[in-house]
Amino acid sequence: MNIHEYQGKQILKSFGVRIQEGIVAATPDKAVDAAKELQKQTGTSWWVVKAQIHAGGRGKGGGVKLAKSLDEVKTLADQILGMQLVTHQTGPKGKLVSKVLIAQDVYYPGESETKEYYMGVLLNRATGKNIIMYSTEGGVDIETVADKTPHLIHKEEIDPKVGLQGFQARKIAFNLDLSGAAMKDMVKFVTALYSAYVGTDATMFEINPVLKTSDNKILAVDSKVNLDDNALYRHLDFKELRDVTEEDPIEVEARRFDLNYVKLDGNVGCMVNGAGLAMATMDMIKMAGGDPANFLDVGGSANAKRVEEAFRIILRDPNVEAILVNIFGGIVRCDLVAQGIVDAYQNIGNISIPIIVRLQGTNAIEGKKLIDDSGLKVLSAIALEDAARLVSEVV
Ligand code: GDP
Ligand code: MN
Repeated sequence: MNIHEYQGKQILKSFGVRIQEGIVAATPDKAVDAAKELQKQTGTSWWVVKAQIHAGGRGKGGGVKLAKSLDEVKTLADQILGMQLVTHQTGPKGKLVSKVLIAQDVYYPGESETKEYYMGVLLNRATGKNIIMYSTEGGVDIETVADKTPHLIHKEEIDPKVGLQGFQARKIAFNLDLSGAAMKDMVKFVTALYSAYVGTDATMFEINPVLKTSDNKILAVDSKVNLDDNALYRHLDFKELRDVTEEDPIEVEARRFDLNYVKLDGNVGCMVNGAGLAMATMDMIKMAGGDPANFLDVGGSANAKRVEEAFRIILRDPNVEAILVNIFGGIVRCDLVAQGIVDAYQNIGNISIPIIVRLQGTNAIEGKKLIDDSGLKVLSAIALEDAARLVSEVV
């Protein structure tokens, strides 16, 4: 689950990470109230108006603007709210901005230069460890840094059983060329950031930029956070952080039915029981020259009702030109699933695209017969190769 910058920052703060303070607002008037309140709390007299969408690159897209007066806060909030913000991460359609974060200006002049760094805590699935990636080249697109000057990105692996060690935090601050108060503050920053990552069961905390202010404080100017969906049951209060307007509407609907659905770009809808079989099915479709439109695991207990819900979900995607149903009857009986498919087909009505059903396992022959005898436009197969070939013939 992705969350907004302002939500990520509140989490960071609760773990003791210093942040660029801000207050979220949904109207220009509320934005002005927020700016006044921030002035009271922090003494700031300049503000940054920041579009809240689930995508980075907002600055370059015109979604982050500096305001030097309350009037400007209002004008900029008015401009940014309701805008369809396009960044390199949103796709060409962009995303509708319905909230702005009014943040204190932290790039004020002072005894030393401000400096932007990059820092991300991630899960390294290959090693089963957490990893802190960091660089002196912050504020800019980190993908470009990785591409052009990869030696400027450092990595520190952390054994999750041991946790971040003091020497590691100091090494990071040292590699960022810091000294004195800023070095000490960076050690505190990294330590608190890592504890936020672990404490929230996150899979990513990316802070770009991490800022050294002109008075040598280290703070988070931005936050991009991904929380592990599979751990959300341990954080019931995170439920309210979900913003469904940022998510694919079909995926939102699928979650209501407890279906494991991920939308993809192809034209062959897939309904499969079991995640492993679903992956193998997608491979088979590719090898037969097709392109999967989705991943969908209906689960081990694929009864008639779930089959129907799954059909409805797949059919909501206008790109789908054929559906491949691939069910392995282990615990579930193929004839029951076949009956479910026939029922769903009739209940949903006017399905105009071909459906290919491959049943294997318990009562597969009976299941195939049920489908063949139904008189519906459903093609059945027992071998997966045959099913995949049928798919590639119809799309
Ligand atoms: P992103 O573009 O979506 O990554 O949004 P960020 O939150 O990273 O902000 C983009 C850029 O806005 C930063 O890299 C800064 O250069 C600038 N910015 C953010 N906060 C401030 C601020 O308090 N004062 C000034 N002057 N610039 C800021
Ligand atoms: Mn950023």
